[in-house]
Parts: sequence; C-alpha cells; structure tokens
Amino acid sequence: MHKIKKSVLESILMASRKVYPNEFISMLGKNEKEEVDELVVLPAVYGKNFSSIRTDLIPFDSKIIGTIHSHPSPNNNPSSADLNVFSVLGKIHLIICWPFNLDNIKSFDETGKEITIEIIE
Ligand SMILES: [Zn+2]
Repeated sequence: MHKIKKSVLESILMASRKVYPNEFISMLGKNEKEEVDELVVLPAVYGKNFSSIRTDLIPFDSKIIGTIHSHPSPNNNPSSADLNVFSVLGKIHLIICWPFNLDNIKSFDETGKEITIEIIE
C-alpha cells in the first residue's frame, strides 16, 4: 500500500482552504522509501484549473510520484479531463473537495481507480 506523511495532508488541507474558490494544484514528491513526503508546487499552474496543466512543461523529476488538486465543489471524483492528466503524471492522485477536511480526500491510481493510502507520522 502507498504511504503518505500526515504533514503533507495537513499542508494540502491548509492550501486548499487558502486558494478556495480557486483550485489548489501540486505534484506529490516521494522519499527513498517511496513514501509521499512533500508537495512539489508548480508556480506556473498555481490557481489555474487542474486540467489545464501543460504536462509537456513539467520538468522530469524522479521524486514526483503523482498529483493533488482540489475541487471547489463537494465532489471529489475525477473528471474525464482529470483522468487524462492522471494517466501521464504518476501513479498516486489525490482529489480533495470542499469543505477540505481529511475525509474529503480520495486517492486514485493512474487509471482513475480509487485506492487506499496509509497515513504515517
Ligand atoms: Zn479535478
């Protein structure tokens, strides 16, 4: 099972609330144990719509394991445009929806199938 540090989730909650009603968009970075341990924010896409990410402009970075973005609505299921981005940007994709609490986060793999991620300290 994939693992994510609690501090990363807390940063996601804060950032999603802060940029609301815009979407918070970031890459997920991993450590040597394959645990998600940091947000890799892309200044170029900040505040824009997730599906507008120019995947061709993202530099190759071996730390990147997936993506996180927020939905300003109470729906945390991926849109068809989201699924297109998932398929090319790693294997763990989180969506958090309004009102941006821990139980508003869902995790998906690169095909859009919902997955479970373990939260670690
Ligand atoms: Zn979305």
